[in-house]
Amino acid sequence: MEKDKKSGIWDVVVIGGGPAGMMAAGRAAQRGRSVLLLEKNPALGKKLLITGGGRCNLTNNQRDARALALHYKGSDQFLMSAFAQHAVPQTLAFFHRHGMKTKEEAEGRVFPVSDDARSVLDVLVNYMRDGGVAVRTGATVAGVLVDDENEQVRVDLVAGKRVVARSCIVATGGVSHPETGSTGEGFSWLAHAGHAIIRNDPALVPVAIKDGWVRRLAGVALQNIKLTIVADGKRREAKKGKMLFTHVGISGPAVLTMSSQVGEYLRYGQVVIALDLFPAYDHGALKQLLYDTLAAQSNKKLKNTLGALIPSALVPAVLAITNSNGEVFNHSVRREERVALVRCLKEMPMHVKGLLGARKAIVSSGGVALEEVDFKTMQSRVAPRLYIVGDALNVNRPSGGYSLQLCWTTGFVAGNSV
Ligand SMILES: Cc1cc2nc3c(=O)[nH]c(=O)nc-3n(C[C@H](O)[C@H](O)[C@H](O)COP(=O)(O)OP(=O)(O)OC[C@H]3O[C@@H](n4cnc5c(N)ncnc54)[C@H](O)[C@@H]3O)c2cc1C
Repeated sequence: MEKDKKSGIWDVVVIGGGPAGMMAAGRAAQRGRSVLLLEKNPALGKKLLITGGGRCNLTNNQRDARALALHYKGSDQFLMSAFAQHAVPQTLAFFHRHGMKTKEEAEGRVFPVSDDARSVLDVLVNYMRDGGVAVRTGATVAGVLVDDENEQVRVDLVAGKRVVARSCIVATGGVSHPETGSTGEGFSWLAHAGHAIIRNDPALVPVAIKDGWVRRLAGVALQNIKLTIVADGKRREAKKGKMLFTHVGISGPAVLTMSSQVGEYLRYGQVVIALDLFPAYDHGALKQLLYDTLAAQSNKKLKNTLGALIPSALVPAVLAITNSNGEVFNHSVRREERVALVRCLKEMPMHVKGLLGARKAIVSSGGVALEEVDFKTMQSRVAPRLYIVGDALNVNRPSGGYSLQLCWTTGFVAGNSV
């Protein structure tokens, strides 16, 4: 779609060639708008290509819009009017319609059947091409000026050129993984236009752990565990799910989801994360299980029996933490050792060193205050020529495809409204 030949003004300029920007641009173009998309990287979707370990967990199979909204704690009441227009069923239908098959994995996570994030990017690029979106890569925006008097938005490029449009969709992302292009400069233009920007803290980040045994387990993944934050000696939030040991600490869905709370508690003091390897058993039931197992295998060595109960890679750590000798036969394990073992299996302490920061964050919390956006249209209530989508919004979300769903929803709604 060409810009208005006489005036040289585009209907819509979209800043940011990430998932939210591409969805918004494609939808607006499909509705007959002339659309220009500006992306500072040489190629589109740099962050999208590293999502889900390169496989792209594009959504979560929450079919009911209200149930979906409840996963975005504190933001659900804002998101409902956007989800009412475009939620998970519409997202899946969109990708299927464009020839991309999907599959569901654990906890409702949806991936392309190809296991390749590029399939998702290809759909978006084709969608934009079919609509006639003009895409300019290598185009870094330096500033955005809303001129209400002339009913225009003026977008200045670092290279010195100026683009003029009737509306502008800001899809510049947050501040996580800045090497992908998400460096947060969109927030300065939005603040200049009068928006309140909530401080950007990295959220959904891996957690660095002080204990050497944790780092020695790098690469070991645990399923069905429970993690509890212990701050100031008190047990706080807990999360069940999967985790992964890394060479600096811990990661994986359960860790990422609780990381912003860990960050909050770290501001006030020491934080320990207690690992429960048997969340389905209370202390009493686990004590019984251990005692029965030791009795049934009384002539075996403790280290071998433990290795049958928990992943064997963890056995040396459990023995070290409980000061137990793995070489003793089960019939000789002392009572204090058994008590210590049960305690350790239920609450293995991991001392938090810190969060891994923006470079390693999956998303960043913070962004444009939600009260300042009309979620029926994604239009700014402060500067109505601007529309704000994706990670630029201050929306809380867990890991599991919810971040990209936010991009599909807000991108679609903005593209449908401009
Ligand atoms: C390692 C990793 C894995 C992830 N995995 C998943 C996952 O599996 N599932 C999931 O739901 N979410 C995942 N996420 C989160 C998801 O990638 C983001 O929520 C999503 O990319 C946000 O999309 P966006 O379009 O809002 O912003 P971005 O993807 O950040 O795109 C913003 C774009 O704007 C461009 N831009 C910025 N400033 C300018 C400027 N001045 N001029 C021109 N262009 C500019 C940037 O170059 C960038 O391309 C992951 C994130 C990371 C870092």
